[in-house]
Amino acid sequence: MIKLSKTSKLDGIMSWSLQALDTCPGSKDSTGNLVPACQGCYATTGNYRFANVKKPREFNREDWKRDSWVNDMVLALDSSRYFRWFDSGDMYDLRLAERILMVMVRTPWVKHWLPTRMHKFDKFKSVIRDMQGLPNVVVRFSSDSVTGGVIEGLNTSTIFSDALPVNAFECKAYQHEGKCNGCRACYDKSVSVIAYKAHGVKMAKVIKIVAMQ
Ligand code: SF4
Repeated sequence: MIKLSKTSKLDGIMSWSLQALDTCPGSKDSTGNLVPACQGCYATTGNYRFANVKKPREFNREDWKRDSWVNDMVLALDSSRYFRWFDSGDMYDLRLAERILMVMVRTPWVKHWLPTRMHKFDKFKSVIRDMQGLPNVVVRFSSDSVTGGVIEGLNTSTIFSDALPVNAFECKAYQHEGKCNGCRACYDKSVSVIAYKAHGVKMAKVIKIVAMQ
């Protein structure tokens, strides 16, 4: 049985998620420390600490290994028009990435948005390229920056606190009580860079520390 999640932000659009950090090898730098964006990660605080939120994410970590998982995911997306991968967590295993690609290929009626830091690892480059080649898929590379640093890539995202990065599309969810409110820019290939305004106490602390460095 596929376990999808629905976050209040996404206008009812469903996600398939894993536990944050445990499945985010791209969250650490070469010294083993969390990169700034992951130090302020929303998915390690608030509701994400509750057992009923953690449970499906832990379940999914094993569930994707089932032979019929791809088929079941395709069926689960039968009536979806938009889908977000990884409201929390990341596609930490190459075999998982290959299965996600199969789901994307078999659901051309769905616009998939997959934010990731797995582009940092060479062995994922080929599967990510295949995903990017699909007309219904946006793989959005997440920047580690919390001060608007933009990374290379077809579609990327960053976090900013003061000035909006040049040519970036500003996520306006903060103007709509934290909800997308009909915006679908993250799923749109023509939107190169999305910039999310930093929010939350934890992120404010991270920005303060980064500013002092
Ligand atoms: S940019 Fe648009 S689609 Fe993306 S998170 Fe913000 S409001 Fe939602």
